[in-house]
Amino acid sequence: MDHLLPKVEIDPSAGFCSGVKRAIEATEQLLSQPDDVFCLGEIVHNEAELERLNNLGMKILNREKDNTGDIKGRIIIRAHGEPPSTFERLQAEGTTVVDATCPVVIRLQQRVKKASAEMMEARGSVIIFGKPGHPEVQGLLGNSSGNAIVIRAVEELDRIDLTRPLRVFSQTTSDLGAYNKFCEAILAGAAKASGEKSDVIINQTVCSQMSRRGPGIEQFALSHDVIVFVSGSGSSNGKYLSGISKAKNSRTYVVTDTGQVKPEWFVNALSIGVSGATSTPVWLMHQVAGEITRMIKND
Ligand code: SF4
Repeated sequence: MDHLLPKVEIDPSAGFCSGVKRAIEATEQLLSQPDDVFCLGEIVHNEAELERLNNLGMKILNREKDNTGDIKGRIIIRAHGEPPSTFERLQAEGTTVVDATCPVVIRLQQRVKKASAEMMEARGSVIIFGKPGHPEVQGLLGNSSGNAIVIRAVEELDRIDLTRPLRVFSQTTSDLGAYNKFCEAILAGAAKASGEKSDVIINQTVCSQMSRRGPGIEQFALSHDVIVFVSGSGSSNGKYLSGISKAKNSRTYVVTDTGQVKPEWFVNALSIGVSGATSTPVWLMHQVAGEITRMIKND
């Protein structure tokens, strides 16, 4: 007698955010034309997608080490953006630049620039809640007038002069809960230091496409017996979302590609969910779902 096969569902909210999708589409369009195509840093933190684009002809430049002056071809600026100094340097080198900075990041750069100029007048600071050295943060710092401080966690609050005017922003990919906690602490600290005279403005700049994914993966993880989470090994968003999934469903397994899927994960499972990070291509999730279906049929 045939036994009932488990259902395999791909998370409808998983896959590229609009900024990454836009950058990849721009790259594909460039790759369909004759000149060489380079990307300044990894266009997306996913090995399989990088390999696909590499097979189409895209080459990745190391932001720190490669000499862009030697490049003959077009250079893509990825969704994270770059500081103005990068654009100036590439322009001086005569390179053709294709700017695929996410529009959400561009708006944040403009807001940081404006706030930073205001804080120069008011002798205050811009606070950026994010990862020091992250390319998006470097782009934000490059748009400030030198009065921005990057803070990674609430524990670093003592690096800020809370008696001064402050304009607070977050990297678009920060964890919303951690940013809210940080903002509460900075407001409380400034009120304690300056009372009613405190001048702190909090800007809500975590990207909604990121913050929505946390509650989304929670629900998805709870509604399946097993979750296979597909993510590049260097994707911090993948680590974050798969961690949430694991907390809600202990039968969560993280894979980078079909080769890592194991049939024993699906014993007694009636429903299997396949999800991924904002850097995971949908085609890869389909491949993994196909492999799972093949395994459970052969079981
Ligand atoms: S996470 Fe948001 S801000 Fe960042 S690239 Fe994607 S859409 Fe743009």
